[in-house]
Amino acid sequence: MKLLEYESKDIFRAYGIPVPPTGGVIKDAGKLPNAIKKAGKGPWVLKAQVLAGGRGKGGGVKLAKTPKDAREIAKKMVGMTLITHQTGPEGLLVKEVLVDKASDISREIYFSIVMDRKSGKPTIIASAEGGVEIEVLAKERPSAILKMPVDPDRGLEAYQGRRLAYALDIPNDRVLDFVKMATKLVKVFLDLDASLVEVNPLIITPKNELIALDAKIVTDDNALFRQESLAERRDPEITALEREAKEVGLSYIALDGNIGCMVNGAGLAMGTMDTVSLAGGSPANFLDVGGGANEEQVTRALQIILKDKKVTAVLVNIFGGIMRCDTIAKGVIAAAKKVKLKLPLIVRLEGTNVKEGKAAIRKSPRSNGRPRRSGSPTSRSTETSAAWSTGPALRWGRWIP
Ligand code: ADP
Ligand code: MG
Repeated sequence: MKLLEYESKDIFRAYGIPVPPTGGVIKDAGKLPNAIKKAGKGPWVLKAQVLAGGRGKGGGVKLAKTPKDAREIAKKMVGMTLITHQTGPEGLLVKEVLVDKASDISREIYFSIVMDRKSGKPTIIASAEGGVEIEVLAKERPSAILKMPVDPDRGLEAYQGRRLAYALDIPNDRVLDFVKMATKLVKVFLDLDASLVEVNPLIITPKNELIALDAKIVTDDNALFRQESLAERRDPEITALEREAKEVGLSYIALDGNIGCMVNGAGLAMGTMDTVSLAGGSPANFLDVGGGANEEQVTRALQIILKDKKVTAVLVNIFGGIMRCDTIAKGVIAAAKKVKLKLPLIVRLEGTNVKEGKAAIRKSPRSNGRPRRSGSPTSRSTETSAAWSTGPALRWGRWIP
């Protein structure tokens, strides 16, 4: 789950990580005077709160020198559709705008913590050349990026923080501040079960103060069960259907295509989506009904798939392992009846009691009275790309132990 900049900054503040003075977020431009009053003397920076980066370049971060400027910017920004290189061409609606006091900037540093899956350790990625897109830097000057693994139990060691400070050319009298800040950022990462904590830019002011000017936190949903404060938060990126599926314990992610997929097991669900794409189709969703799918779950899953109006056919791909194919077949038949299915339904069963399962489906009544087609598709080997990524940064740069 991605947190908005102001939510991330609230967490930073609670950990004693320096962030700029703020007037908070506004949802309508009329609330601006209060916000700038709270932020303190201008100039101010107005920042569109959307779950995408690159806002600066896309017009989502604006400097206001006077209250009048601020009012005009706020009027335009609240309700605008912001397009950045991370939003896609359709952009994102700006519902909230953060009003921060503007900081004077001498230098911008890049600082983040990601999970390096290879070593299984949180890893700091940092660069003295911040402010720009790290992907561009990684491509053009990979040696300017530093990487440092962190022990997940001990957090950042002071000596590691100092090494990093020297490598980033932090002013001598601020090395200790930097070490404290980096240690706290690592603590946020570990405490929140984050998959990303990013500060870009972490600035040095003309008075040599260090401030987190931007903040991004992405948490790992698998750890939500032990993250009470995060579990209560509604994920704005989840669709209504995804929320409904979550409530009944189904893993469902809506996609752009038209072929509804109902599969048991996440691996098989991924494989099915690849296979559909390989055959020239386009999956409407990822859906894992779980290992012990029963009639009730199959019905719920089918109902959710059919609520997506883009769906023109449904593919069921079930492997009967612990669950027997005939039980699943009966579940599918009952579910199709219950939801009064009118769309083509293609069922592929394999595993325990597959013969009995197929026989049950063959015998089941058909809504349009035409004979049922059955058979096995020709098998072919498929090669799928690795479906994971730790972000681009780890492939480049220089490791510091
Ligand atoms: P994004 O990463 O989405 O582009 P940032 O928060 O990093 O958004 O803002 C983009 C740029 O705007 C920063 O690199 C910085 O130069 C400037 N900026 C952002 N916040 C402030 C602030 N409070 N004071 C001064 N400049 C700011
Ligand atoms: Mg930024």
